[in-house]
Amino acid sequence: MTSAPVPLLLLGGTTEALTLAERLAEHPGLEVISSMAGRTMAHRLPPGRLRVGGFGGAAGLKAFLAEERIGLVIDATHPFAATISRHAATACAEAGIPRLQVLRPAWQPEPGDRWIEVPDMAAAAAALPGLARVVVFLAIGRQELAPFAGLPGIRLVVRMVEAPTEPLPLADATVILARGPYAADHEEALFARHAIEALVSKNSGGDATLAKLTAARRRGLPVVMVRRPDAPAGARVGTVTEALAWVEAQSGR
Ligand code: NAP
Repeated sequence: MTSAPVPLLLLGGTTEALTLAERLAEHPGLEVISSMAGRTMAHRLPPGRLRVGGFGGAAGLKAFLAEERIGLVIDATHPFAATISRHAATACAEAGIPRLQVLRPAWQPEPGDRWIEVPDMAAAAAALPGLARVVVFLAIGRQELAPFAGLPGIRLVVRMVEAPTEPLPLADATVILARGPYAADHEEALFARHAIEALVSKNSGGDATLAKLTAARRRGLPVVMVRRPDAPAGARVGTVTEALAWVEAQSGR
């Protein structure tokens, strides 16, 4: 008798999660359920089952794990999505379900980089007046713009994936709508066109948005780099390949 596939919950919204869903789709021993927060329109959907939207905190997630008889959880959410990762750690610990976090490596400064590392967006906003007079390129999501609202004499250029549904909380801002990946030459040309004097960036890691840092280095621009929030304790890998190995090890138990 062959046993039923094990339901695996894949918390996603990242390139790594999409690749994992694609790689695990044909796994005979698994039924993959991908989950996304649903804040932006996905440009590529994962194969297999997909659910969208919050679970209702750690308790809601724990209830979902029980309802769906989830046997394994992979948290491949964004490095700055700290809340869902914390909820996943709590819910899985309470339910006794093995959980793996896939966290792509953070970017590291290279020779020629002018990084100012800060702990959060409020500190990033506070660092700007001494750095740039007019234009700052904010390569951050729309949810984190509020701390930049009251910066006198600083004009902001904000890049985001989708047009904001509400007016931005910024007095003087130019919005650029675009989705990576970008090439360094493209970023350099963009910086030149808008006379960018400094960047604010989350340390997301990965290749898709790395080019802005290469372009900043070439132009000698300072980068206010927001450090990642702490990840919960527990099993953690940096790549899809390692995550696949973890799945195999779990399946063999
Ligand atoms: P978050 O702050 O960790 O999550 C907030 C809530 O959203 C969670 O408590 C959960 O709601 C729900 N949620 C998040 N991810 C989910 C998933 N995969 N499936 C179901 N529900 C999910 O994360 P965030 O609000 O998504 O983002 C926080 C930061 O990460 C921001 O800085 C954002 O820009 C960044 N981010 C970037 C990307 C990217 O691809 N560039 C993607 C995601 C996030 P419940 O408590 O109701 O379960």
